[in-house]
Amino acid sequence: MSKILAQVDTVKALRQRVARWRREKLKVALVPTMGALHEGHLTLVDHANTLADRIVVSIFINPAQFAAGEDLTTYPRDLEGDLKKLSARKANLAFVPMGEEMYPKGFATSVSVKGPATAALEDKHRPHFFTGVATVVAKLLIQARADYAVFGEKDYQQLKTVTRLAADLDIATRIVGAETIRHDDGLAMSSRNEYLSEYERVVAPLLYKTLQETAEELRSGAEPAACMRRAFRALNKASFKVDYVEARNADSLRKLIGTTDEPIRLLAAAYLGKTRLIDNIAV
Ligand code: AMP
Repeated sequence: MSKILAQVDTVKALRQRVARWRREKLKVALVPTMGALHEGHLTLVDHANTLADRIVVSIFINPAQFAAGEDLTTYPRDLEGDLKKLSARKANLAFVPMGEEMYPKGFATSVSVKGPATAALEDKHRPHFFTGVATVVAKLLIQARADYAVFGEKDYQQLKTVTRLAADLDIATRIVGAETIRHDDGLAMSSRNEYLSEYERVVAPLLYKTLQETAEELRSGAEPAACMRRAFRALNKASFKVDYVEARNADSLRKLIGTTDEPIRLLAAAYLGKTRLIDNIAV
């Protein structure tokens, strides 16, 4: 049996732990999450373990990144299960702050990133989202003062935004991306997959399959705009309601101009019933 994971819920206690590790010359990695942990999150912990000696996992459902009417109140929660999974995967500390710890009375600051955060992808459909993410991630990075922070490529625009934020604010923590973990049928693991009905769960892998087919077309030199139209139609036909499917520069997330030899990332978001799925792959 794995031992019980240490847990702190205040910034002060987090800082004390990390400061002690730093005095012992241990390297520290932070893995920010919103809980309801699955194999995708746990692989980030494994990755963190290859980089650092001590791993802090934050579990905080950040209200600032949900708009009114989104799933803040119904977002899956399983703290007990999360803590068990984390100790089995050799995390050293769970940071589980309450809302008031992160946003105390009078809190009046928000962090707004441009560049990758205003690429007209997620931001176009969830305008509040990246300011919420950037604010909480900036806080977590400053609170933890870790050597590394690991984020999933699953949320590719978020990874690029956080990387930009850390560079722009001179935060010394190195931001590290880790590959997307998928179910056997290709569906990217996500806490929100729990919302899918049995039927939707069968259809859902088509998002990744369509991205793969579209990436293949792009690789064989097909014109990006025509490929996107085909992908859009294929997904709509399979009962997705597509927010976007776009080929972008893999670094800047800027739009491509015609056929190009720049690195390309293919990104998509679509509703299946009430569940919004996002995914992306390298071309
Ligand atoms: P979340 O709890 O959904 O906010 O995600 C916390 C972190 O886990 C983020 O860096 C996500 O990109 C990452 N993540 C979520 N799902 C996956 C996945 N299937 N594979 C790899 N990383 C993931």
